[in-house]
Amino acid sequence: MQSLLRLAFPPQCIGCGDLVEEEFSLCGTCWRQTPFITGLICDACGVPLPGEATAAPEHCDDCLSIARPWQRGRAALIYRDNGRRLVLALKHGDRLDLIRPMARWLTAVARPLLAPETVLVPVPVHYLRLVRRRYNQAAVLAQEIGRRSGNVTIPDLLVRTRRTKPQDGMSRGDRFANQSGAIAPGRSAAARLAGRPVMLVDDVMTSGATLAAAAEAAHAAGASQICVAVLARVAKDA
Ligand SMILES: [Zn+2]
Ligand SMILES: [Zn+2]
Repeated sequence: MQSLLRLAFPPQCIGCGDLVEEEFSLCGTCWRQTPFITGLICDACGVPLPGEATAAPEHCDDCLSIARPWQRGRAALIYRDNGRRLVLALKHGDRLDLIRPMARWLTAVARPLLAPETVLVPVPVHYLRLVRRRYNQAAVLAQEIGRRSGNVTIPDLLVRTRRTKPQDGMSRGDRFANQSGAIAPGRSAAARLAGRPVMLVDDVMTSGATLAAAAEAAHAAGASQICVAVLARVAKDA
C-alpha cells in the first residue's frame, strides 16, 4: 500500500517541490540554502554566536541588555533566505505539511531543555486572527513537538487579552509596549499547570517582546521554570 502510494504521489521537497527520497523533507539544494543554527549559540535565545562552544553558557548582546523573563531558549533556523520563506509559508500559506519537518528540527534543538514534566505552551494568537488564519501555527508546532518528545501540551494555557498592532517596522521599545500585558493565563491555568515547568513555543522571535509577555503570563500561572523554543530567530547581522 505504502509503495503504491509512493508511485502515485512521489515525495516532494517541502521547499521547491522537486522529487525527494523521503516524505516531508528538503532536497539537497534547499537543505544547503536553509540556515540551520549550529555551533555556539546564545543560551537564552538560540541565536548563533561567533567563536567556539565552551562549557559555560554564553549570551548574545540582546539577552545581556534586556532582562529575559525566561531561563533558556533555542531556535532551529535563522530567519532569512529559506528559513524565512518556510516560516512565511507556514504562517500565511496554509502549508500544514511543513509542521512535521519543522517540529522535527525544533524538537532536535529543544530536547536538551525539556524535562519529562515540562508542559509545552504555544504563544497564543487573538481569536480574530485565528478566524482569519484558521490555525495558530505555534499551537500546531507545540502539539507536534509534544507528540515527538512525549511532553504534555496545553494549547490554551495562555490567552490574548487584546489585539496588538502588527509589529513590522516597529522599534524594539514599541514592540515591548505593544505586547505588554496583552497575554494572560487562560481559564483555570494555574490549576491545570500545577506548578510545572513551561516551554513556550512560537514560530519567530525578533525582539522577544511577544515571548516576554507570554513568559510573564506563564509566571502568573505558576510556572516553576520557563524556557522558549522558536522555529526561527531573527539575527541582526545574519
Ligand atoms: Zn527543494
Ligand atoms: Zn540571546
